[in-house]
Amino acid sequence: MCKMSVEEQVIENAKNGKLLTHKCTDCGFLHLSTAYFCLKCGSKGFEDVLLEGTGQVATYTIITVAPAGFEKYTPYAFVVLKLDNSDLRISGFMAGIANPADLPVGTRARITGFDERGIIIEKQ
Ligand SMILES: [Zn+2]
Repeated sequence: MCKMSVEEQVIENAKNGKLLTHKCTDCGFLHLSTAYFCLKCGSKGFEDVLLEGTGQVATYTIITVAPAGFEKYTPYAFVVLKLDNSDLRISGFMAGIANPADLPVGTRARITGFDERGIIIEKQ
């Protein structure tokens, strides 16, 4: 069995609509997979937990002037998604958002993929 890096695992799971997280084996506190030690108890023991990539839009920034190479995607929003059944928040890309009326805070959304833009989030 080939061993993928954490980043590769995050990407593969995002393509399947899931989020790879790290759960502390000592206290159970849940972290994003980028954590190296438990923010609650300091332990370095983690186990992988897959969460459904669904949640609510917590906040976002609308991008109308894109960085080089991303002009074709505008307008879009850089969205912070609060995941269901956890306090974790992840950020990602949502296409077609031009103004706040397009995306009220609290809108249901889900992870749908991963590409050069990063994690792709779409309205549910
Ligand atoms: Zn812990």
